[in-house]
Amino acid sequence: MRIDLHTHSIASDGTQSPADVVASAAHAGLDVVALTDHDTSSGWAEASAAADRLGLRLVPGVEISCLLRRVSVHLLSYLHDPTDGPLTRMLTGSRTSRESRARLMVDRLSPDTGLRWEDVLEHVHGTATIGRPHIADALVARGVVADRDEAFATLLSGRSKYFVPQTAPDPVEAVRRVRDAGGVPVIAHPAASKRGSCIGDVDIEAMVEAGLAGLEVDHRDHSDAERSHLRDLARSLDLFVTGSSDYHGTGKRNLLGENTTDPESLQRIDELAAATSPSQGAGSA
Ligand code: AMP
Ligand code: FE
Ligand code: FE
Ligand code: ZN
Repeated sequence: MRIDLHTHSIASDGTQSPADVVASAAHAGLDVVALTDHDTSSGWAEASAAADRLGLRLVPGVEISCLLRRVSVHLLSYLHDPTDGPLTRMLTGSRTSRESRARLMVDRLSPDTGLRWEDVLEHVHGTATIGRPHIADALVARGVVADRDEAFATLLSGRSKYFVPQTAPDPVEAVRRVRDAGGVPVIAHPAASKRGSCIGDVDIEAMVEAGLAGLEVDHRDHSDAERSHLRDLARSLDLFVTGSSDYHGTGKRNLLGENTTDPESLQRIDELAAATSPSQGAGSA
């Protein structure tokens, strides 16, 4: 069984529709794929219909932007109730602050590159969650940079003078919201030091106390040493581990199924989701 638990569609910063992500997953020989767009579940219905047609299992999820001491933390949530009020409000708040933050970055970039907000909107599909990748696409279209990679390495990097940080919820708070909504929280690429600063083991322990269930270990942004450290940490904290592609269509080099998750971990996700009744508001591991 081949399981990939982290992908993006045009509902956020991927380049394929949710149905096409699922079709590509089938093509890549996957049996199970999770759609985990940034801060939105708007792709779930389309992806789920495609999965039914193609005979794969879709695991509905989101990747929630969080911040701790100015360090970016991405929290994956699987199988939560998409109508849960507090979680929905948290995600809506993030999408709103992402838009103001993107506008501020465009304001800073504009004098030097001629970039306008309308240029960025041309690369955002409908109500998709806006992120730096859309600014990157607009810069590519203007001929300022060659591709998203170059944009992130230069103008859009966290060290760039054009960079504006995003405001986002605290990760412990996000874990609680996910559990209260019946979801299963897993930290995405927790030790990806090449992306920037990462939270420490003590911070992860605090998230475990709030109900964190797993760690994404096999991810292309982790070195072998980072993976083995995370595996040990997961064992000591009784967390399950996952492996995923973090596929973004042609927006990133990551390929569907390049890392996969063991069926035992998916079973833990299913069991925890089944045991967590949203109305009971489970808050502990
Ligand atoms: P933001 O969410 O606006 O802070 O932008 C970060 C997003 O950009 C992450 O979700 C990444 O998937 C994506 N990203 C980061 N680096 C790159 C890159 N080099 N090429 C394409 N996408 C990237
Ligand atoms: Fe992304
Ligand atoms: Fe992420
Ligand atoms: Zn992701």
